Amino acid sequence: MTAVLEVNDLVVRFGTGTEAITPVNGVSLRLQAGETLGLVGESGCGKSTLARAILQLIRPSSGRVRLGEHDLTSLRGSALRSMRTRLQIVFQDPRGSLDPRMDVASLISEPLKVHRLAGRAERTRRAHEIMERVGLDAAYAKRRPSELSGGQQQRVGIARALITNPAVVICDEPVSALDVSIQAQVINLIADLQADGDVAFLFIAHDLAVVRRLSHRVAVMYLGRVVEAGPSEEIFGRPAHPYTQGLVASIVRASLDARHRLMEARRLAPGDLPSLLDPPSGCTYHTRCPYAVDVCREEVPVLDGVACHRWRELRDTTETTTPIQETERG
Ligand code: SF4
Repeated sequence: MTAVLEVNDLVVRFGTGTEAITPVNGVSLRLQAGETLGLVGESGCGKSTLARAILQLIRPSSGRVRLGEHDLTSLRGSALRSMRTRLQIVFQDPRGSLDPRMDVASLISEPLKVHRLAGRAERTRRAHEIMERVGLDAAYAKRRPSELSGGQQQRVGIARALITNPAVVICDEPVSALDVSIQAQVINLIADLQADGDVAFLFIAHDLAVVRRLSHRVAVMYLGRVVEAGPSEEIFGRPAHPYTQGLVASIVRASLDARHRLMEARRLAPGDLPSLLDPPSGCTYHTRCPYAVDVCREEVPVLDGVACHRWRELRDTTETTTPIQETERG
């Protein structure tokens, strides 16, 4: 099946010499029409930099981003701008991403104006149409962002992203700035939009429960690299990489209280993310991995579904001891 978005060996490097950091280090992803790919990992693992590099808001140092037939990394100027109608983003902070002087209808239809896709009457008609689709009453059309709740502001952000009929929408932590009570509404809206059409979503979040709910497939990032990728049910039901096991442990033991869940996650992913200025050699997770051996410190593991020298060897033993399996056994 043809990918609507294809990211090949993408690298983003900032600075030079000893000051150089590589927040995205050889990432490859594929997204089919109508599919949602969840992208997870700790804060600072490179998720948001990857999103901006895919959008070409940050120019990658090397690698390719293909949107349909177009190689975005080779496009410049108006050719690249016109591609942005097909590749949109929903930001984490809805309020900060909306011009406070504009009303809701103008904010939603602005991409049509910027890209000269419709005249005034058509823009207004499309704005009202998409407001209905995202659950915003027409009475809000003339309101300013400050007159909206956080959830309504994010609905405006989502409507803006959808109005150009994009092939792909990148959602960068779209609910993490919202109150918990409002998060569920926005998640339900995204689920409805998924079911509606063939827009593909790259859904970036650190809340694994949300990613689990919305994603068909999941990619796990650690220190600029994808360390595990696969169907959502496999990643959450049978995580293979020790880092993924640590992440998943924090959500699967719902029967534990918050303190014990954190302790369990820490047991499987202890310590903090190392600095990108001085990343560990070999498998960059070796400084936190309870299963690290000599080869882990010396050789970078190749991503073959799982980027770990020992995952097959560990699979049988961890299967009987991970929280995931304990939960499944009830
Ligand atoms: Fe742990 Fe080694 Fe696997 Fe890295 S390669 S995750 S250090 S066992």
